[in-house]
Amino acid sequence: MNSPYQEIISRLGVNRVLINEILKKYTSIKIGGPSDLFFKAGNSKDLVNALTIAEKFKVNYFVLGGGTNIIFPDKGFRGLVIKNESADICFKGLTGRRFTKSKTNSYVDKVYLEVDSGVSINRLVRNTVEQGLSGLEYFLGQPGTVGGAIWINAHNLKQGKFFGDTLVSARIYRPQKGIIEVPRGYFRFNYDRSVIQKTKDIVLTVTISLLKNNKDKLWTIAKQALDYRQKTQPSGSLTAGCLFRNIEKSQAIRLTTPNYTCSAGFLLEAVGLKGKTIGNIMFSDKHANFLINKGEAKFSDVLKLIDLARNKIRKKFSVNLELEVVLVDEI
Ligand SMILES: Cc1cc2nc3c(=O)[nH]c(=O)nc-3n(C[C@H](O)[C@H](O)[C@H](O)COP(=O)(O)OP(=O)(O)OC[C@H]3O[C@@H](n4cnc5c(N)ncnc54)[C@H](O)[C@@H]3O)c2cc1C
Repeated sequence: MNSPYQEIISRLGVNRVLINEILKKYTSIKIGGPSDLFFKAGNSKDLVNALTIAEKFKVNYFVLGGGTNIIFPDKGFRGLVIKNESADICFKGLTGRRFTKSKTNSYVDKVYLEVDSGVSINRLVRNTVEQGLSGLEYFLGQPGTVGGAIWINAHNLKQGKFFGDTLVSARIYRPQKGIIEVPRGYFRFNYDRSVIQKTKDIVLTVTISLLKNNKDKLWTIAKQALDYRQKTQPSGSLTAGCLFRNIEKSQAIRLTTPNYTCSAGFLLEAVGLKGKTIGNIMFSDKHANFLINKGEAKFSDVLKLIDLARNKIRKKFSVNLELEVVLVDEI
């Protein structure tokens, strides 16, 4: 064991740092080999501590949320994987009392919550809907954590809702700089994009604002969103969500896709890849943009299927598909 690793183990705790922990256990697609070091951060203080120590001893690190949009190589990860299990949801304030435009002119209050980045989206949705707080109801059934949702600006595209819409500010850890508070604008959210994909900032906590609304109405919307998800996405399978990002509207117009759909799934289906299998990895026959691990799938087969899809789509449509899933490099 090299000495930076030993420093990490002694500082984070011999009993808390796991050696050669298998990463597939922590991802929804169940692919991924051993991480040299693995640490569960139970709160944001733990998270900052692990980040600071890894930086100090120049150890490569990776922050893992729910592991629902990520594929690790079979060779695993050289460095420290920090599994974010921070889990607090706190009431922060109440402002913006105003009248709605509805006929009843009922009061609507803005409620602010401070949420740890390791909180699962589903727990947050259930919690807020149950409190009659509107803003996240369209995300019922969405896997992953708040940190992962900020990273990709998670979405319910059918309803045109983005997770970043509710964000007011966030406390982040900037590599080499430490902790700072940033406003929503800092993230430069767009479809499948936020600035932290480039800056590598780590989200510690977020402040979100939600509107007071009728709890029964919110549950109805949430359950409809869940039903739609279950109808259109493969359920009960080992998957990492959408593999590719959708194409731009201008590309859809050039290709004259039906109703100018931007769906990467549509393109994959159009080149005959729905259900296509290499080894034990396949494109779902329910939604072509979802990879399914049929059991013990190999990372190398994932790469082959990605190459095959990209080549076919480039050839037929002159489009370069961009990955949505995070594919961790083999090192
Ligand atoms: C069945 C299924 C359905 C899905 N449906 C949808 C959907 O409808 N809409 C949608 O948008 N997505 C969907 N996804 C994808 C996934 O749910 C989202 O991308 C989710 O936001 C990922 O969160 P995570 O915590 O699992 O991130 P992870 O997979 O753990 O990590 C993804 C990336 O986020 C980074 N990250 C994680 N936490 C932090 C943090 N605190 N600070 C900085 N970076 C961080 C990681 O380093 C990594 O680069 C689906 C996935 C599955 C498996």
